[in-house]
Amino acid sequence: DKSKKNEKSKRKEKVEEEKKEDKKDEKKEEKKQRAGAVYNQMNNTNLINEGSTLLSRFEIEAIIGGGGFAQIYRAQDKLRKDFCAVKAERSNQDIRRMKLEITVLLALRGSVGIPEILGQGKWQNGDIKCQYIVMQLVGRNLSDVRKSLPHRRISDRTLYRTMLQVLKALSLLHGAGFLHRDLKPSNFCIGATDCTRIYLIDYGLTRQYLDKGGLVRKPRAGVGLRGTIRYMSLDAHARHDLGPNNDLVAFLYSTIECGDGSLPWSKEHSQENIIKLKQAHAGEKLCTKQPVFAKVAEYIESLNYHSIPDYEKLFALVEECNPPDLKDNEPYDWQYR
Ligand code: ADP
Repeated sequence: DKSKKNEKSKRKEKVEEEKKEDKKDEKKEEKKQRAGAVYNQMNNTNLINEGSTLLSRFEIEAIIGGGGFAQIYRAQDKLRKDFCAVKAERSNQDIRRMKLEITVLLALRGSVGIPEILGQGKWQNGDIKCQYIVMQLVGRNLSDVRKSLPHRRISDRTLYRTMLQVLKALSLLHGAGFLHRDLKPSNFCIGATDCTRIYLIDYGLTRQYLDKGGLVRKPRAGVGLRGTIRYMSLDAHARHDLGPNNDLVAFLYSTIECGDGSLPWSKEHSQENIIKLKQAHAGEKLCTKQPVFAKVAEYIESLNYHSIPDYEKLFALVEECNPPDLKDNEPYDWQYR
């Protein structure tokens, strides 16, 4: 009896400890994001000045955005006589992110739905040093696009065609052996010239999940928290090593948010409550406003770390969600405005 009690209290202690760890991780992640954003934006220091020419070819025109870590500029490609984008990060930040992104963009060069990489280098502006990637310019991200639409929702006539393109880009990424690990609507962008094309961006958190022989690497135990709390799978919350199935869960949550206008846990701040709500909203329960998407949800939820997703089946399931009277050249929601 005593030993049972002991075990129970040990278990309780462990749970408490895990909770504390989660909180710590959450705070760390938030702080990192804030620090990066504050550094890049509030400080107002452009890492590269307007008018600078990189690689004797790309002339910086203006800063057009910033993520948690990077600054994004629009530039003029003087060779192709076209616009392009430059993503710059301070050299004293974790440069692994940028190296990873370059590796992935090079590996996927020429793939549909992945911005083309045009160059890379280092730049020094006074005593600020940075690394940069030059790539194809894309348009607005789907998070911003959604918020600009009526009811802050993407219509089902546009949503599933859009998400099918995201899924195709994701399948190419997985096929090349990489996980994205931060799938979310702000990482899906419409094309700058053809706004019916969708691009998957931001490969700073990717991980190679296949070894050189094309086999799934052994899962590691107790990995750090990766990704964005709102869109991460329950496995990610539990600090399991992630597989393609977890990217698909983030894809699922992103689709529900874009179509419904929110997720059941959008207003929650505590990770504990978010986990509970994710547990309570699987399959049909997650798809109450998009019942056509329930089959996709159920298939994705049936996968585990070792599953090789059947993308052809997934493409077909997503395609089936399109309204039957959808026309081939029907404009996307954002083309009406
Ligand atoms: P971070 O890694 O810091 O999160 P991202 O790569 O996600 O940075 O970029 C942040 C934002 O900048 C994106 O949501 C998008 O709106 C914009 N952006 C990123 N890459 C491009 C690009 N190639 N062309 C145009 N805008 C871009």
